[in-house]
Amino acid sequence: MPGKKLTPKDLENFRSQLRLMLGVLEGDISHLAEDALGDGSRMEFQGDEGEIYNIEFSLQLLERDEQTAQSVLSALGRINEGTYGRCEDCEDWLIKERLRVMPHAIRCVDCQRAAEAEQR
Ligand SMILES: [Zn+2]
Repeated sequence: MPGKKLTPKDLENFRSQLRLMLGVLEGDISHLAEDALGDGSRMEFQGDEGEIYNIEFSLQLLERDEQTAQSVLSALGRINEGTYGRCEDCEDWLIKERLRVMPHAIRCVDCQRAAEAEQR
């Protein structure tokens, strides 16, 4: 069942939620980049397995955070364009509960499932 059109107040709420997310993500990203790549002051690289594992793990998290940050940014763009809150595929309004949990969602639950099934 599709949701309803979002009110300007809803949009403002989601905008601030998205901005908050972006702030947190940007903080995480710079921390993780420092963990993985060092801040330039770490001259000695031991190269043991634990260290390599940690770097790889940080890079994985970094990649994931960057992807999320990208979708948060594009969600903010959609708020400006007036297309925020609609499913990219079927153009139904997303239910608000879904947006509360995942304000950067671009598809309704059904279309998201279908898209993920296609990827497999
Ligand atoms: Zn849909």
